[in-house]
This record gives sequence, C-alpha cells and structure tokens, in this order.
Amino acid sequence: MSAPSVEIQPFSGRSVCLFCGSSETADPKYTEAARAFGEGVAGRGWRLVYGGGGVGLMGASARGAHAAGGRVLGVMPEFLRSRERLFDDVETLVVGSMHERKQIMYDESDAFVVAPGGIGTLEEVIELLSWKRLDLHGKPVIFLDIDGFWQTLFRLMEHTVEAGMTPPSFLQAWTVCRTVDEALDALGGMDNAPDMKHDHR
Ligand code: AMP
Repeated sequence: MSAPSVEIQPFSGRSVCLFCGSSETADPKYTEAARAFGEGVAGRGWRLVYGGGGVGLMGASARGAHAAGGRVLGVMPEFLRSRERLFDDVETLVVGSMHERKQIMYDESDAFVVAPGGIGTLEEVIELLSWKRLDLHGKPVIFLDIDGFWQTLFRLMEHTVEAGMTPPSFLQAWTVCRTVDEALDALGGMDNAPDMKHDHR
C-alpha cells in the first residue's frame, strides 16, 4: 500500500466511505436515501469519502453532505471525469486509475457504507469483503439495505457457506441496516474507536 501521490486537505475527524450507484435511472427512493445519508454524515461532523461523481446516488450523497455544510472528499479517475460528471463543488482528487481511486478511498476512511448500486458498487464491496476475509483490514462494512436491495447478495454469500466455501463466521463480517438512520447510528461507534484510516494488517 503506497502513499498517495496527490495532496489531500487535512481532516482530523472520522471519515465514512460510501460506495453506491452512479445510475441516473435508479428508483428515486435509493437516490433520496443517498442524499439523506450524505446529509446525516455531515450532521455528525464526519467527512464523506466517495467516488467523486456528480451522477446518480454518488452525486446525491455528495450534494447532500455539501449542502449540510459537511466535508466531502471525492476521488475520480481522469478517464471517468466527463462520464461520471466530476462534482467539483467539493474537494476532489483526480487520479490515474481505478486502483488508485480505491486505494485512496480505502486509506482515507474509518468505515464503509454500501448503498444500492450496480456492477461498480458490487466490485468495490466484493474487494472490500475479500480483503476482510484475508484479515487485511478490520474496518466496519455496513450495507444500507433499502427495501431489501442487497438480500440476494446475502443469499449468495449464504450459498457459499452452505457449500463449504466460506466459514459461517464470515457472515458476521458486515452489518445490515434497513434505513439511513440505522446506518448512521451503527457508525456512531467510530467516534470513540481508534482511527482506522490506515488500518493495514
Ligand atoms: P455502479 O454501481 O456500476 O453505478 O458504479 C458505481 C461506481 O463504481 C462508479 O463510480 C464506477 O466508476 C465505480 N467502479 C466501477 N468499477 C470499479 C473498479 N474496478 N474500481 C473502482 N471503482 C469502480
């Protein structure tokens, strides 16, 4: 894990990384949850770390946090700048690759929240959980399971347990929250926990 080659404005508080969809055609209930989550993160004095885009749930969460006066750090690969419409009202790092993006998002966060999303969100959370499975980190992973959005993923994970591919204990590696408030409450423990940003094991 190398240090980022880009300058990041100092932030001494706790940071929450949000993985979520970039789609503009998502059901508005998901987009609204992302906005409310960003607002709630700002309200608790935490920084929102996200993918830097202005579209879909990503844009909604950043706007929600920014409008509520919160700190936001976006991390955007150069080649996606126009496609994901970089939201430059907030601090945004433009980096060279998807790998660099994920590494910085990882290193700048104390905990992760996974809101509804598509293949990109899935890729991000699967990597995060696989790193947890390998004991590479101990950061909290919380699914924002609005209207059961993630239930089929949990079912797939149970299937891998039933098939003897994954130990049953791994089903405890994440927390499931059904509402934004529940997710914010679950994150509350961060305030009194050690800084997890550079937790590399
Ligand atoms: P989606 O859930 O497909 O709307 O994608 C959500 C976000 O994940 C978008 O910002 C994508 O650019 C991002 N994403 C997709 N694949 C990757 C990857 N391999 N590494 C990092 N971010 C990714």
